[in-house]
Amino acid sequence: PVASVLKVLMGMQMMVNINSELDLETAEMIAAELDLTIELKAAETLEDELITELENQEDDPDSLVPRAPIVTFLGHVDHGKTSLLDYLIGINVVSGEAGGITQHIRAYEVEKDGRSVTFVDTPGHEAFTEMRARGANVTDIAVLVIAADDGIMPQTEEAISHAKAADVPIVVAMNKIDVEGVDPNRVMTQLTEHQLTPSEWGGEVEVVQTSATKGIGMDELLETLLTVAELNEYTANPNREALGVCLESEQQGDRGVVAKLIVQNGTMRVGDILVCGPAHGRVRAMTNTLTGKPVEEAGPSTPVNLIGLDTAPGAGDRFHVLSDIGQAREIAGARSYESSRENLSGITTKVSFENFQDM
Ligand code: GDP
Ligand code: MG
Repeated sequence: PVASVLKVLMGMQMMVNINSELDLETAEMIAAELDLTIELKAAETLEDELITELENQEDDPDSLVPRAPIVTFLGHVDHGKTSLLDYLIGINVVSGEAGGITQHIRAYEVEKDGRSVTFVDTPGHEAFTEMRARGANVTDIAVLVIAADDGIMPQTEEAISHAKAADVPIVVAMNKIDVEGVDPNRVMTQLTEHQLTPSEWGGEVEVVQTSATKGIGMDELLETLLTVAELNEYTANPNREALGVCLESEQQGDRGVVAKLIVQNGTMRVGDILVCGPAHGRVRAMTNTLTGKPVEEAGPSTPVNLIGLDTAPGAGDRFHVLSDIGQAREIAGARSYESSRENLSGITTKVSFENFQDM
């Protein structure tokens, strides 16, 4: 108990408080006094044991339930990615406060007839690649947006290779179909040349003709995504500690760090202890990314804005819910230490009161 440790420290004339860090020598003296054995565990070991275990934890097949597919828009600039998402949100949300923050990564859950799709709109496919490079593969389905009047452009080709590298199903939104004189067959031919033969032509790729400005084909696009999702049977276990990915975060004045996270498995609740990249903390509040309304919990595939982290994690940082705030602090500390030093060779042997108590 902390009280007995404090008593020993007082006997050693050491004035400390509950948050003080003790050096190893002092910790050893206390241990000797209290007849305890100290087991030193490097924070990296903790990371290995805890985080790897959480990442690899197999879910009992009986615990799995369907989850919303996470869909990312990819394509050439100005082909209509943001407009498509705007339209899709518009038909589902009464409050008109959607748009506004277009330079950010956006993530929204859209519901249709009781089924949900989570959409992610990134400013460019660099963000998609960057997140993948960091091991944060959030996307289940890529919507390749191609403006019918423009056809396949260099960035479309890049998007195709990114989607193929991610090994996710591709659905094509042939957008701007309302523009006069466009020739859908031209785009279909281009798709075929890129090994994306449309299903209409006997291939495997669903092509939906859309107009984000006129609202054409939007129901069909949603339906197609839901069908692809059903075929792929995306599932998750809502009854476990949450884990997922940070899409972006920022320091917002007196609200502190606001992090946009997407839960990939498990359920995250207010009060949960979280480690996310070099950040850690307790979930103080979460809000729906679309309505801004507070939510008490967030299940698989749900995007939330979260308050409670001590520093801002980066895009693509994975998060895990832990049971011990001391461990969360240790792991986060080791990560920021690691990123602040080029070559971390030593082992951190800080023993704080809180985790000392748990030993
Ligand atoms: P993004 O760069 O891919 O996100 O493209 P935006 O959504 O910003 O759209 C680029 C421009 O194309 C905007 O001026 C849109 O109004 C316009 N646009 C988007 N979708 C359509 C469409 O279906 N038809 C027409 N005519 N214009 C569109
Ligand atoms: Mg855009």
